[in-house]
Amino acid sequence: MKRYSAFAIAREAARYHTGWERAWRAPEPKASYDVIIIGAGGHGLATAYHLGKNYGITNVAILEKGWLGGGNTGRNTTIIRSNYLQDPSAAIYEKSRSLYETMSQDLNYNVMFSPRGVIMLAQTHHEVRGYQRTAHANALQGVTTEFISPEKVRELVPIINIDGPRYPVLGGLWQARGGTARHDAVAWGYARACSEMGMDVIQKCEVTAIRREGGKVVGVDTTKGAIDCARLGIVVAGHSGDVTAMAGFRLPIESVALQALVSEPIKPCMDVVVMANTVHGYMSQSDKGEMVIGGGTDGYNNYTQRGSFHHIEETVRALIETFPMISRLKMLRQWGGIVDVTGDRSPILSKTPVEGVFINCGWGTGGFKAIPGSGWAMAELMAKGHSPLTEEFSLDRFRAGKFIDESVAAGVAH
Ligand SMILES: Cc1cc2nc3c(=O)[nH]c(=O)nc-3n(C[C@H](O)[C@H](O)[C@H](O)COP(=O)(O)OP(=O)(O)OC[C@H]3O[C@@H](n4cnc5c(N)ncnc54)[C@H](O)[C@@H]3O)c2cc1C
Repeated sequence: MKRYSAFAIAREAARYHTGWERAWRAPEPKASYDVIIIGAGGHGLATAYHLGKNYGITNVAILEKGWLGGGNTGRNTTIIRSNYLQDPSAAIYEKSRSLYETMSQDLNYNVMFSPRGVIMLAQTHHEVRGYQRTAHANALQGVTTEFISPEKVRELVPIINIDGPRYPVLGGLWQARGGTARHDAVAWGYARACSEMGMDVIQKCEVTAIRREGGKVVGVDTTKGAIDCARLGIVVAGHSGDVTAMAGFRLPIESVALQALVSEPIKPCMDVVVMANTVHGYMSQSDKGEMVIGGGTDGYNNYTQRGSFHHIEETVRALIETFPMISRLKMLRQWGGIVDVTGDRSPILSKTPVEGVFINCGWGTGGFKAIPGSGWAMAELMAKGHSPLTEEFSLDRFRAGKFIDESVAAGVAH
């Protein structure tokens, strides 16, 4: 496959863009693979990519019931940060954040990683204490964050009102190398790299059954026929419960729709990401100028992959006190995605009761930031049978009561 470069862009411009190749192949499934990954979202594709890149396992199919990145990966608000409280979380999220720094070069695909900085506003005394604690924990974990004053918040975000009557800004947890990336590009970049390694990315191919013999996986049934495999990775976010039911086991997980909306495009006015967890909204400005606004989850479990009307008013109302200028903005569109939430708000990366079946899920409202790190760790787990980054995130923790409580960092939408 030809490399993308400044030279290639100039060459194609000179010949009216007639020489670009397809970014990835569209193959039909083979009868059998060493590894099948269910789900061509970011996590599934990153797992496949690292299986090939780190372990030379390339007889791999990634099966997607819809289109590439059409799940949460293409629906999220793209915040990337690693300022979590617990050590196992900081390890995997920081690994991920650091992989984002070089992802465009590694994949030879511009994922538009923009380390513009992320502020989590402290708007109650409880939040001040919580974020100061996180900043101390991050210092010990080697994750660069700092607790900043309200004045520093105002300096970074001139459009903010720090003197709100209900929730004044009392400070913020600031991660200068956090930021955003282009969500579709992350999926497309991984798909192109996987396809180049000889893997088959197969869209419109829904897995309908998981075949087992003697407690071991032997293959899957799909809408494109039966396919055999020796190892199976289930990486389907909001559909995890449904798919593991096909393998005969249940997950401690709930599925719920998470909401977002964007405004009309306006001139550049905010060059950092701001999260206001008390009022429950967060905002960044896209390169096109739209204000990208994240809301909360629907108040009930559901599989409805669409926007909920009541969230528009709820989210915008919540943010107006802190960002009065929003009151004069027109909203352009809204949408929702089905996220998978665990009780301790931490993911599951684990072997399962079925030999050869591995599960990667439970990233809930915040797994975009984790894509490269999760792929790296999941590939190690599937290739070697264990990974230092996934050890604490196993399914067994729910039996043993060894929860990784991230309700402060991840019990919110982002
Ligand atoms: C509105 C919203 C905002 C968000 N904001 C952020 C944010 O700012 N920062 C952040 O870090 N995270 C955010 N998230 C969370 C993040 O999007 C997810 O955690 C992450 O994208 C999950 O990726 P994934 O690859 O696991 O899942 P997905 O991208 O959902 O991919 C799973 C894929 O599996 C496929 N699938 C399901 N069942 C089958 C089957 N039977 N056969 C074949 N394929 C199947 C689906 O079609 C889907 O494409 C947000 C999520 C939403 C919805």
